[in-house]
Amino acid sequence: MKNSKTLISLAAISLFIMCSYTPAGLVTGEKKVNSLKGIEVPTNYTIDKNAIEIPESIIFIISDGTGIGQYTLQYYTSEDFAPARFDHVGLVTTHPKDGQKKVTDSAASGTALSAGIKTYNGAIAVDTEKKPVKTMLEVAEDKGMSTGLVATSTISHATPASFGAHIDYRKKEDEISQQLADSEIDVLFGGGSKYWQENLFDQVRENGGQVVSDINEPMNSNSRVVGLFHEEGLTPVYKGREVQTVEMAKKAIDLLDDNSNGFFLMIEESQVDWGGHANSAEYIQGEMRSLNQVVNYCLDYQEKHPNVLVVLTSDHETGGTIVHDGDDGILDIEFAISHHSASIVPIWATGPGAEVFDGFMDNTEIGKALMGYLKK
Ligand SMILES: [Zn+2]
Repeated sequence: MKNSKTLISLAAISLFIMCSYTPAGLVTGEKKVNSLKGIEVPTNYTIDKNAIEIPESIIFIISDGTGIGQYTLQYYTSEDFAPARFDHVGLVTTHPKDGQKKVTDSAASGTALSAGIKTYNGAIAVDTEKKPVKTMLEVAEDKGMSTGLVATSTISHATPASFGAHIDYRKKEDEISQQLADSEIDVLFGGGSKYWQENLFDQVRENGGQVVSDINEPMNSNSRVVGLFHEEGLTPVYKGREVQTVEMAKKAIDLLDDNSNGFFLMIEESQVDWGGHANSAEYIQGEMRSLNQVVNYCLDYQEKHPNVLVVLTSDHETGGTIVHDGDDGILDIEFAISHHSASIVPIWATGPGAEVFDGFMDNTEIGKALMGYLKK
């Protein structure tokens, strides 16, 4: 990797010495300006929310920290690329409302996706004044729909929390867990049992809910089910995850889908982001395989249940990830940074109302569109 970089820079220097233009007419050796002033971005890339049909149920898959680079990695390292099965594709801006910042965290972006508003980094379903804002999961509850959250992080982590809790700062996971225990969310699957003191599990049981420690335990679709399968986030796929995202998703859908009012389920593939922070292609590859399985499962389900809308998007990209050719047909994965980038991310959708996601939009527009469907 280092060798190829050296070769490239040597070639650039010698071209500059020899002449200032490449055979393609590009100027080489010119002074590059790599810091540019950002502008105030209006949120006026709106989607036409007048869908032809309204879905009965919604499965909203959020792949944390997943941009074009991560999808490219999956595409070129696997026989199967499930996102290609979606009928509609668009592109999404993810910036927060936080000074001049263009890079969001998962809380601000989670809130944009769950409630359709821009807020500051760290905010869990509260606005810039720290006032709670209604989330689509709460709208679904009001309509008598079944609701669920599935994540491979702690269930109190920023993305799932943005759907089921309201708090001024994402790191208050004890309080977020208390709010999730107090809520009426029908299914909670993920990690994070260390933030649930035993009294929270007791509270769930006392209110007729079920607490499980194994995804294969018999579960009752007439009561709440809480399953936290790790003290922290689940084990990364490449290190042997204890319960697969697709198993949690399948079980959640089984539990939720016998409600005649429909259901709302958010599934987060949480750790593509962590692979990006770790600058680890191996980590990302495992998580992307897991995402691929979930997408295939949900789209198979959608084929049999055409009233369900399935949407896949990301809260942001992580790592500035790119895939390029290394030596001898080996792919070389490089990372520009070890945190989130401001890169635009894709959105994919299939089912009633999916056509509104064809185009260029802001992440708040996704929240508004899905909320609009749930209100109808
Ligand atoms: Zn992150």
